[in-house]
Amino acid sequence: MALHGAQARAQRRRVRLQVGLLLLAACAPPAGPESAIELRGSSMGTTYSIVLASLPKGLAADTLHAEIRGILEAANDQMSTYRASSELSRFNASSSTDWFRVSEGTRTVVAEALRISRLSGGAFDVTVGPVVDLWGFGAAGPSAVAPTRERIDAALREIGYASLHVRSSPPAIRKERPELRVDLSGIAKGFAVDRIARHLEGAGIRNFLVELGGELRAHGSSPREDPWRVAIEKPSPQGTAIQQVIRLENRALATSGDYRRYRVENGARYSHIIDPRTGSPVSHALASVSVVDASAMRADALATALMVLGPAEGLRVAERDGLAVLFLVKRGERFAEVSTPEFERYRLE
Ligand code: ADP
Ligand code: MG
Repeated sequence: MALHGAQARAQRRRVRLQVGLLLLAACAPPAGPESAIELRGSSMGTTYSIVLASLPKGLAADTLHAEIRGILEAANDQMSTYRASSELSRFNASSSTDWFRVSEGTRTVVAEALRISRLSGGAFDVTVGPVVDLWGFGAAGPSAVAPTRERIDAALREIGYASLHVRSSPPAIRKERPELRVDLSGIAKGFAVDRIARHLEGAGIRNFLVELGGELRAHGSSPREDPWRVAIEKPSPQGTAIQQVIRLENRALATSGDYRRYRVENGARYSHIIDPRTGSPVSHALASVSVVDASAMRADALATALMVLGPAEGLRVAERDGLAVLFLVKRGERFAEVSTPEFERYRLE
């Protein structure tokens, strides 16, 4: 794909994002005398980057960054399964089948996770942990041999989102079975992106891009004073080429891909996407799924769900629900693009 002028300049200065994305406009030279501001760091087992065209008067970058770190810390205190003291870890450790009081944040994410489970016919299931472990992608670490059918079936009997419930007031979650546990890794990053965006808007910042572990949200315009442009990578383990550049305004983009089959989480864990309906890791010709949505939380979970569903079933669900989705499907050495009509408006030709 040929890029011209400012785009090509931006491409030369691009920053690689983690999960199959390149960020173009955010790295372009700022249009005015003021420099663009970028806040970077690590959280949730991955990295984040927040780019602003400028800061409002009286707000220091360090102050804003501390506030953002506070939002990420709060999300970890609520939903991290790597933090034994988090709400979710305490829920998982508890054998009670009574209502368990949680923060509004955890309630929001669990409610959305259950909604995506239902719309995907169980392809997205935050109770899938025991099966993830069995395949050697959980806390116990990699295993040398594939699990037997018997052990998979036994693990499948332990899981199921239908045994997880959520209540609004007061916010609480409940499991029907004591051993049920919840892992929100497939949706929590998107939630954090939405919360950071909300905070920036509250601080009077209108033009920004927030990215966490490849899930992102763009508002207003870039420091070049034109719409944010984000590139979806051509799937490959090295990931150096661009497949499609899209234009995002007040929208989130999430990408799920099997081409980097696992990654290190907090230096200790590996993860992988499992089909909860079969108990096996996903293994179809779908290389990546990108979803554009008004909510980063929803886009994050939908990308994972559609990755499980695969190109045929995934496209049916995406079309049925009017989702903006780009599937990259492996065809030998090449990738075929399959997209919904809703995705087309975001393409930069
Ligand atoms: P990707 O960005 O590749 O979609 P995510 O980080 O969004 O990856 O989601 C992957 C994580 O979700 C894994 O760490 C795993 O713990 C969890 N997971 C694996 N399979 C499923 C599934 N079918 N439904 C929900 N969560 C899953
Ligand atoms: Mg996801």
